[in-house]
Amino acid sequence: MSNNNIAVIGGGFCGMMTAVYLLQSGLPLNIIIINDGYPFGRGVAYNAHTNKYLLNVRAINMSAFEDERYHFLDWLQLQPSYAHIPKNILVNVYAPRTMYGDYLQHVWQQAVKNKHPLTNINIIEQKAVNIKENAESLCIHLANNKIIDADNVVLATGNTVPGNIIQNKSFLQSDKYFTNPWTKECVSNVRHLKNILIVGNGLTMIDTVQGLTENGFKGKIYTISPNGFKLIPHKYNLLVYEKIVEELPEEYNLREVFLLVRRHIKSLTDVGIGAHLVIDALRPYTQQIWQSLSFDEKKYFVKRLSHAWTILRHRIPVHIYEMIQELRMQGRMITIAGKIISAIEEPNAVTVNYADNKLQKEETISVERIINCTGPETDLHRCANELLKNLAAAGIIKPDALHLGIDADAITGAVINSYGKKNEHIYTTGGNLKGILWENTAVPDIRVHVKRLALHLSAKLKEKAVC
Ligand SMILES: Cc1cc2nc3c(=O)[nH]c(=O)nc-3n(C[C@H](O)[C@H](O)[C@H](O)COP(=O)(O)OP(=O)(O)OC[C@H]3O[C@@H](n4cnc5c(N)ncnc54)[C@H](O)[C@@H]3O)c2cc1C
Repeated sequence: MSNNNIAVIGGGFCGMMTAVYLLQSGLPLNIIIINDGYPFGRGVAYNAHTNKYLLNVRAINMSAFEDERYHFLDWLQLQPSYAHIPKNILVNVYAPRTMYGDYLQHVWQQAVKNKHPLTNINIIEQKAVNIKENAESLCIHLANNKIIDADNVVLATGNTVPGNIIQNKSFLQSDKYFTNPWTKECVSNVRHLKNILIVGNGLTMIDTVQGLTENGFKGKIYTISPNGFKLIPHKYNLLVYEKIVEELPEEYNLREVFLLVRRHIKSLTDVGIGAHLVIDALRPYTQQIWQSLSFDEKKYFVKRLSHAWTILRHRIPVHIYEMIQELRMQGRMITIAGKIISAIEEPNAVTVNYADNKLQKEETISVERIINCTGPETDLHRCANELLKNLAAAGIIKPDALHLGIDADAITGAVINSYGKKNEHIYTTGGNLKGILWENTAVPDIRVHVKRLALHLSAKLKEKAVC
């Protein structure tokens, strides 16, 4: 076996782009991509089942390559449905996510075309369920009982389905409960239904509402989450606020950064401009700030401030926001700030008891479907990804201190085992690094880490080749 066998587990944006950078390294490599669940190169996000689901990031910020800012924009302008839109407008477009998936296919084809003639690529459509380490290599066990050997493995496993939200375990098997909100099934066959409950009030809830209405659902949509509906629309996209950056301290502590952010938010909101510009200005510094906070500060942030951060960070296009407000005004969408207490299946419906935070009392609704839109489960011990669970059980990986993902080196993504030792053969990237980098979810962030990881791997292999 050569020393250049690299297995990438997961074929979404992160897995595919890791492979793209490896292909660009100019090295003769054996790249094995093991992907299951969603089509290669699209992953959960860009495999949308309708072109109504839009990117939540402007086109200008969606280049797959950090250092080629216009890469996606240039491609978009060549697409017949966008060719007539001038570039200064196109930068602000929220394109369909399916179209972004097409763009990623294009990126992949180009990378394969230019690969080293001795490089082999093998895409295996299987689930990886375990990795066993021996003296010579890493043995990846697949669900079909086959074993793949590799010298280096990248865990690009991405978004896991949302965690359990209902106490009553037997209800989880109900055909009225949809635990994976990214499947077409959860918004299909809905014309005859009267009431649907969506758990979660974030971006996946927005997709789901659109999916339901597109499929002819005419009834009432309830949404529930502890803070209720707080999403805001994208606005003032062309404004760039840099003043806060000039005032960032040399060393960060949470209190100081918080007071600074609050002061700048106040000065912008006082003149009628949105607070989100302050958060946008901090985006390039977020990972740096996060890493310099103490454990207690991070814990405090997650508990007390992350909700406000998320609202300002994850916004929705104006026209989608208006569509949601319209549904609310018509009484077709009821947003609840509260928590589910129980869900009891009846023959034709589910009786849901919940604590209403606003009314300070228990309430009951009857719905025919519950869709879990609470976001990817990040806790390794609770997530549904068998591979990650097995690796954690064997101590090969461990949760970061806050249980937001995998503990790893912030620069390279090399995972840290249960004894605290860095593994220079197993790496991770993407959302798995949430606890380490905080913001490593959307393309503007994940493309940076993926590149860093791939460059680290290729430098390591080059060094080996010289020795
Ligand atoms: C619904 C949704 C919409 C989003 N929209 C945007 C957006 O508009 N803009 C933006 O910048 N970001 C968006 N994001 C963030 C998104 O997570 C990233 O942009 C990016 O798609 C993440 O890619 P990934 O490769 O890390 O994960 P994923 O896309 O989740 O891909 C991981 C892949 O690995 C597979 N896999 C996992 N475990 C195994 C295993 N053991 N064996 C084999 N295969 C495995 C999965 O099935 C999947 O195919 C969105 C996220 C979601 C969930």
